[in-house]
Amino acid sequence: MTLHPAKTAFRKIDAAPVSSENGLLKVPAQTLTDLAFEAFKSVSFHLRPDHLRQIRGVFDAPDAAPNERFAALEFLKNACIASAGVLPLCQDTGTALIFGEKGNTVLTDGDDAQALSDGVKKAYSTLNLRLSQNVATDTFTEKNSGTNLPAQIDLAAGKGNEYRFLMIAKGGGSANKTFLFQETRALLNRPALLTFLREKINALGVAACPPYHLSIVIGGLSAEQTLKTVKLASAKALDAMPATEYGMRDTALEAEVLQITNQNGLGAQFGGNHFCFDVRVIRLPRHGASLPIGIGVSCIADRNILAKITSNGAFIERLEDDPVRFLPDIKAEKLPDSGVEIDLDRPMTDSLADLSKLKTGDRVSLTGTLIVARDIAHARFKALLDAGKELPDYLKRHPVYYAGPAKTPQGLPCGSFGPTTAARMDSYVDLLQSHGASMIMLAKGNRTKAVRDACRRHGGFYLGTLGGAAALVASCIKSCKCIDFADLGMEAVYEITVEKLPAFILIDDKGNDFYAGLSR
Ligand code: SF4
Repeated sequence: MTLHPAKTAFRKIDAAPVSSENGLLKVPAQTLTDLAFEAFKSVSFHLRPDHLRQIRGVFDAPDAAPNERFAALEFLKNACIASAGVLPLCQDTGTALIFGEKGNTVLTDGDDAQALSDGVKKAYSTLNLRLSQNVATDTFTEKNSGTNLPAQIDLAAGKGNEYRFLMIAKGGGSANKTFLFQETRALLNRPALLTFLREKINALGVAACPPYHLSIVIGGLSAEQTLKTVKLASAKALDAMPATEYGMRDTALEAEVLQITNQNGLGAQFGGNHFCFDVRVIRLPRHGASLPIGIGVSCIADRNILAKITSNGAFIERLEDDPVRFLPDIKAEKLPDSGVEIDLDRPMTDSLADLSKLKTGDRVSLTGTLIVARDIAHARFKALLDAGKELPDYLKRHPVYYAGPAKTPQGLPCGSFGPTTAARMDSYVDLLQSHGASMIMLAKGNRTKAVRDACRRHGGFYLGTLGGAAALVASCIKSCKCIDFADLGMEAVYEITVEKLPAFILIDDKGNDFYAGLSR
């Protein structure tokens, strides 16, 4: 699949020089390493101007719900904080994906994937990013790779005297919302297809941090081709593809599907009319017996960057250095209030009583102590109970925040620290709450009925905070220390104190679920 991005502005980077000889472009391995390093450095802290313009568009939209205007403003503030190059846009700094097309007159030493991997390794090792890759020591045992490698690197041959790339820092939550459906010819009519898409799009939920850039591919010669095309289209790398019988964009259907996406009520995470910024629909050829349909998203941390090496040197896409210019004139705007203040440093029963007076969808402002724990820590809490032992007291005294931070920058209490997807902890909630723990949970995304039932049974709450605003969340964190399971690295248990951390009540102690109430 050839890259067909729309017109892109590039900037030259400092990189090992290339040379031209006998019509060949000679690219040293170090140039590839430098290019990958600079691309992942830039994309971890900066967004595309068009993406920022779309966030601002949500803030300005006449039909934006109050929670959406609040979210859009927070996303813009997050981009401003991240652009200083210290706190990355999101705590999940992703898996490094590299798609390359090497022109037929480009000459390298042949180990291009290794050279690019070296640049990825340098970026994740030396910047305040998170190391998220687990490698298997056997089928059931894993360890962190310690470098964020391996990267996924797909290199293809093309024509010409350039080496062109798309590089993506893909977060786990966003990647998890990539789906393949093996359908049949019966879906190739407008009503059936739109009904199908409506159901699948609504099922995406909010765990991958909308508003989304939604990508849909209809057809494909294989499941792999369909899903690769989903990925490239979500990064806008196929926007200018020529329409041929071997593949075409359907911009009319894109507009129609966009209308559908924004009718589901989920909006920019906490209700509204802006679930997706835009939609890409690509139609590919197919075997007569198959109709693969792929759906995927690029999340609010829309970290896609083009790059190229030409006879003039190495270049990366020019991302936005000055996101402040997208902020609304906050003096002129009536800002949404910060929500009901909740002091978390009182007895748990008092915090629960305060929350019980509110309703789902209400905004709160949290100040006080939170315990941070996610997947592996929860498995260990369960193992304690299974072994007949007591849960740690901290889990009963304080709310639990499901999160895993990026590296701590020098001089700051913590690194970027946004919420992780709550649903992965759903199976633990009833058990923990039945032991008086996890009575207030904070994270992102929809949860299952098991959590609604547990909260109703035990008097618990699930609150959501903005996904994709991790640098902004970090600015609300005043202290952070590891208090348990230090061997788990970013999955260890931390105690943090927060000041005015915005959150929304998503499930209450009566079993009401904000998202269930939104379904249209
Ligand atoms: S914005 Fe949300 S979905 Fe995207 S990488 Fe961050 S946590 Fe994951």
